[in-house]
Amino acid sequence: MPKDKLYGKTLNELIAVTRRVGMPGYAAKQIADWLYKKEITSIDGMTNLSKRMRELLSVDYEIGLTDPVSATESRDGTRKYLYNVLNDKYIETAIIPDKERTTICVSSQAGCKMGCLFCMTGKQGFQGNLSSNEILNQFRSLPEFSKITNMVYMGMGEPLDNITEVLKSLEIMTSEWGYGWSPTRITVSTVGLKGTIKEFLEKSRCHLAISLHSPFDEERRKLMPIQHTNSIKEVLDIIRDFDFNSQRRVSFEYILFKGMNDTTAHIKELSRILNGIKCRINIIRFHKIPGSEYHSPDLENIIEFREALNAKGILTTIRASRGEDINAACGLLSTMEQNKGKKS
Ligand code: SF4
Repeated sequence: MPKDKLYGKTLNELIAVTRRVGMPGYAAKQIADWLYKKEITSIDGMTNLSKRMRELLSVDYEIGLTDPVSATESRDGTRKYLYNVLNDKYIETAIIPDKERTTICVSSQAGCKMGCLFCMTGKQGFQGNLSSNEILNQFRSLPEFSKITNMVYMGMGEPLDNITEVLKSLEIMTSEWGYGWSPTRITVSTVGLKGTIKEFLEKSRCHLAISLHSPFDEERRKLMPIQHTNSIKEVLDIIRDFDFNSQRRVSFEYILFKGMNDTTAHIKELSRILNGIKCRINIIRFHKIPGSEYHSPDLENIIEFREALNAKGILTTIRASRGEDINAACGLLSTMEQNKGKKS
């Protein structure tokens, strides 16, 4: 029987562990301290637990940290790490250094069910949900760990399709007994799943990013099959009804495709559907993927599009493309090759 992993457990789960092992309840807080504040790598190092307690804990549990399998570095300093998860599946994680900021882009699933037309992860299908351990291991096991200032759930997978484990990982990142990060350092990106978006908004205080890509129903359906069952209108209604405090941000990701979603009609419709929502739009240049009929507009057109939206009163920025030469940029993460021949 493989041992259960302590890293990635919430305080309540650690309390349950202490009960199972026959330790006093207060030991859960001590274990959380060792896991999330003192960066311990073995149960034996938990020196404020008695030797007997450590022995009992070690029977069925281990810390559960895993090193990446490989790393690749981009010309622009972005790094991509490959991890083995879910008993022989693979995921990727990106680290994006930018002046005083270092952002980690974590994966929440191996592959993805959403099938967005512009995304390599979508093309590889779905292999499984990551556990909270596997999500946070991407952060903890990296050489850059202590330098990371921000976290985005924008890697492989749809975070709100794995809501339980994602919420656990967010709780560990933002609780006083965990890493104690401000929730404003974390952004969770979603295609907009109406079944779980409310749960995310209610149970976490992290920023939300919604992949929009087109304000028109039919066009969005073509780009993102999720629009068939979870229309952007329904998602925007949920956002409108939610009371965002001044700290929390909702943003919309908009990949710009040349001659497709970059017209004045799109600008007009975007300003109509987002009316009344305090938000920002992040424009992302489309990164070409094999077999795609789409192209990216020129920088000049991207800037024009941004200016037109700003003129409509929607704060709009252009997201810098990072790590394109190592396929770490938006839409390019894929472990199709590594997963080949592995059972799903
Ligand atoms: S863009 Fe995100 S949700 Fe869409 S297929 Fe890719 S990983 Fe999945």
